[in-house]
Amino acid sequence: MIKVEKLYKKFGSNEVLKDISTEIKKGEVVSIIGPSGSGKSTFLRCLNLLETPTSGTVIVNGQNLSGPKKDIQKIRQQIGMVFQHFHLFPHLTVLENLTYAPMKVKGEKKALAEDKARTLLKRVGLSDKEKAYPSSLSGGQKQRVAIARALAMEPELMLFDEPTSALDPEMVKEVLEVMKDLAKSGMTMAVVTHEMGFAREVADRVLFLDHGVLVEDGEPVEFFSSPKTERARDFLEKVL
Ligand code: ADP
Ligand code: MG
Repeated sequence: MIKVEKLYKKFGSNEVLKDISTEIKKGEVVSIIGPSGSGKSTFLRCLNLLETPTSGTVIVNGQNLSGPKKDIQKIRQQIGMVFQHFHLFPHLTVLENLTYAPMKVKGEKKALAEDKARTLLKRVGLSDKEKAYPSSLSGGQKQRVAIARALAMEPELMLFDEPTSALDPEMVKEVLEVMKDLAKSGMTMAVVTHEMGFAREVADRVLFLDHGVLVEDGEPVEFFSSPKTERARDFLEKVL
């Protein structure tokens, strides 16, 4: 689903991603972890062209994002993204948040878009909130709406950038449950997270970034029980 080769990203003279090569297979769940500022968000953003790589190759779902002829709109449609701060449309109801892009971008008829939206709201446990506005929801509810909204576009791949970092502790679980369900359903997922429990239990692989370098790329069991590098050991000591 994703193939990254020798990816470099610079902001001015600041080299933020250095020679990253990895793959994410269809149906795989990959957790991306590492210290603040290590390049996790930038890496994720290079996967859906929110950032342009300085050099290297990024192939998503058979399309070369680093090639000259790319249809950004079409590529983004295949990739759902969930952010730390939800980014819901505040002036639209929950149902309208879900139907907006499918109608506007894909030209879906309202009745069909609403049917699908209701199915998704049921899936994230928010059927009773379809007429609510985002401001009336808790953080956990907002994030579940954001996930459902991304799914409404029927993406091939879902990217999550610290989806639970802005939530009160009691709301983290409800969002992680929705993500676990999604993982079980076979969705391909790349998840930047500080939730080590999620990385350990749900992820098929863990990518550990440090100062823009992909220091470890392996199975969670191995990574958590016997990290290969000093840097990963240091990090784990601080967060576990
Ligand atoms: P992380 O998500 O791991 O905390 P980021 O990918 O957000 O790390 O940031 C990595 C580095 O890139 C940081 O030094 C940050 O300041 C820098 N950076 C990120 N985005 C930009 C940008 N748009 N312009 C300039 N520097 C940036
Ligand atoms: Mg980040």
